Order: sequence, then C-alpha cells, then structure tokens
Amino acid sequence: MSTRQDCVARDARDALAPLRGRFDLPQGVIYLDGNSLGARPIAALDRARQVIADEWGTGLIRSWNTAGWFDMPRRLGDLLAPLVGARPGEVVVTDTTSLNLFKALAAAVHLQAHGAGSARRVIVTERSNFPTDIYMAQGLSAWLDRGYSVRLVDSADEIAAAVDADCAVLMLTGVNYRTGYQHDMAALTAHAHAQGAVTVWDLAHSAGAVPVDLHAAEADFAVGCTYKYLNGGPGAPAFIWVPERHQAAFTQPLSGWWGHAAPFAMAPDFAPCSGIGRALCGTQPMVSLALVECGLEVFAETTMEAIRAKSLALTDLFIDLVEQRCASHPLGLVTPREHASRGSQVSFTHPHGYAVMQALIARGVIGDYREPAIMRFGFTPLYTSFADVWDAVEILRDILDQRAYDVNASRGAVT
Ligand SMILES: *Cc1c(COP(=O)(O)O)cnc(C)c1O
Repeated sequence: MSTRQDCVARDARDALAPLRGRFDLPQGVIYLDGNSLGARPIAALDRARQVIADEWGTGLIRSWNTAGWFDMPRRLGDLLAPLVGARPGEVVVTDTTSLNLFKALAAAVHLQAHGAGSARRVIVTERSNFPTDIYMAQGLSAWLDRGYSVRLVDSADEIAAAVDADCAVLMLTGVNYRTGYQHDMAALTAHAHAQGAVTVWDLAHSAGAVPVDLHAAEADFAVGCTYKYLNGGPGAPAFIWVPERHQAAFTQPLSGWWGHAAPFAMAPDFAPCSGIGRALCGTQPMVSLALVECGLEVFAETTMEAIRAKSLALTDLFIDLVEQRCASHPLGLVTPREHASRGSQVSFTHPHGYAVMQALIARGVIGDYREPAIMRFGFTPLYTSFADVWDAVEILRDILDQRAYDVNASRGAVT
C-alpha cells in the first residue's frame, strides 16, 4: 500500500511536475475538474491584456491584419493538429463544439449520400453521449426533412450491430463525459466504413487527455473542445478537423462569409474557399480565441505519450487509494479498470454523490457531479500531482467517515 511519502517521491521523479508552474491555481485547492474547465495558464492574463490594450485599443481595426486576427482560427488549428494526429491545414479553431458538430454531421450526411448507399437515413450514436451531440443530430435530422433520424444505442457492445445498411453516419464521442469509457476509434471507424457509413468523432474529452491519431484511425470528421483539457479558457472556441482527402467534398450549411473563397470581394453569391477554411462561418471572439494559444503552448513542451503515462498512473493511484481507504463506504467504480478503455477521469457512484461532492468542494477538492449519482474526478497531468491524489482521497475518506455532508444540499444551476 502506498503512503503520502511515496506520492511525494513520485512527484520528485515526475518529468511533468515543473509544468504545474505554468498554471495559476488558488492555494489550498486540489483541482480535479480540468475535464470540464481547464485551469488558467499564467500566460493567459498577459495575453488578454495584450489583445485588449494593444491589439484592440491601439491597433484597432488594423489588427485584423497586423495582429493576425483573421488567420487565427487556422494558425491555432495548426498548433492543435499534432495533439490529435491531424496535419497542417486540416484543423480550424472556431465556433462551439455544438456548432462544429452540426457542420461535421451535415458534411458527413452529404458525403455519405453521394457515396454507394444513398438510401441510408440513420445517424447512430449512444444514449449516454453528451446531450448536445444528440440534440444537434436530432436538430439537423429534423431540419433536413429528408427522413433522417437518430438511433440511440444503450451500450458500446451494441454499436457494431446498430451500424447497419440504414446507417449513414456513426457519431461517437471518443471518451464518455460521465463514465470515462474510451472507445476504440480505429476499430469502430473500420467497422463503419465496412458497412458504408461515415464517422464523426467528438474529441471533447480526448484532445489533450489521451493520445489521438485521427489519420491512423482513418476517421472522416472530428470536432472537439479547447476549454477542457486544452486549458483555453471558459467558452473558448472549439475545433473542427476535416482531413485533406475530404476537403474538396466538404460542404456545410452555415455558409458564412469567413468560409468564402474571397470574403472581402463582398460578392452576392457564396463560393466556398478551398481547404479547411470552408469549415468557418463568421467573425470569431478574438479575445477568447487568442487565449487558446496559451494552453496549447504548454503542450508544446511535452508529448501526449508522457501525458498519457502520467494520466494512467494518476487514475490507477486514485482508484487504488479510494478502494483501499474508503472500502467501508458504498462507492461504485464506473470508469473502466482496463487502461485501453479509460480516458483521463475517474467516476464513482455514491447514493449521496451530489452532497459528498459539495462537501469535497467546500474542503478544496474540486470535482463535479453528473446525474445519476456520479462523482467525477478529472486528472490533468500538466498540473495534478501524486500528492494531490493522496490528499484528495484522505479528504474524501474523512468526509465519508464523519458523514460530513448535507444530503439536503441545494443545487446550483451548474452541477
Ligand atoms: C463539453 C462537451 C460539449 C460542449 O459543447 P459546447 O458547444 O461547447 O457547449 C459537447 N460535446 C461533448 C461530448 C462534450 O464533452
């Protein structure tokens, strides 16, 4: 059994430990919610000041050119690309994950309909997917008004059979937001292709959390979030990936002027630009977008392999310690023990999960809660230490042993 001293010793040997100094975290907080909102890179404050005071204040409208504002979605996309196995010119950072899903799904439906089996009208996804993914697929299906529908499967085992001769698109999230279950992207993509379907992958809980190789998996389209593991800031623009092989055929209904071949020609007819730019729609929130770079800069100092090795070590340790030290309490592990099926979070159920999480937060251990009864703990190797894991489990044990939680705790709008 490990001790706190062992954890401190592991931190001393950890090559990623110095990167914690790149983040500003309040004293006395053990932050286990980087899967929902990443911590603030220290550099973000100066970058925000620079964008607001210099680029906006002094540069004014000239900054669209002189500060590189107009090119920023592409430039940031190229910086992000290596983290997900994408190539330069295949990613833009823009809009929200929900909006990018809409574009990717529309493009996928279009691509599939022009392929072999054009009678296909079903978008397959999981009932346990993040709701906005399902809602966007439902919204697109209804608006297309061409007989499309969304088919929800109840477990990962049912996906293969659900991708049948009616399936146009398989839309999955790489790592489940609630359970931390990770799909085999390459195998599911290969299966979808063998059945004649196109794939859309949501990397919201994968990008910056686990190694992703979109090209090796031969995926078709992908989207993801920058405000979670990539530490881009609250509401930071998301990303969309369109591999070069699909760019010429990529067409999406949000045909705004940023996706035009010559936006400043101000022509009355839409003509999509060549390349990834056709995934853009309109003017971006520059202050927020600029901060995405501060998160990506930290990733440039390490590798996803090093991050993955530490992530698995942190989540293994957390599972072991909770099971040893809180053994007398009704906690149920929801996250897979098998490494290949695990993202970078650990979820436990507890009958009073919401109340226990509120007590943890009050004592500085910040995780979050998702229905039903799930306490979620995200592990972010860039700024979480092994000693943090030890301390978090000790605080959890103390709360459970003392029953120091209020089962009638009132709920905020965000849990
Ligand atoms: C976080 C998350 C989103 C968020 O979408 P927004 O448009 O940024 O609100 C979408 N899908 C998944 C799977 C997520 O985890």
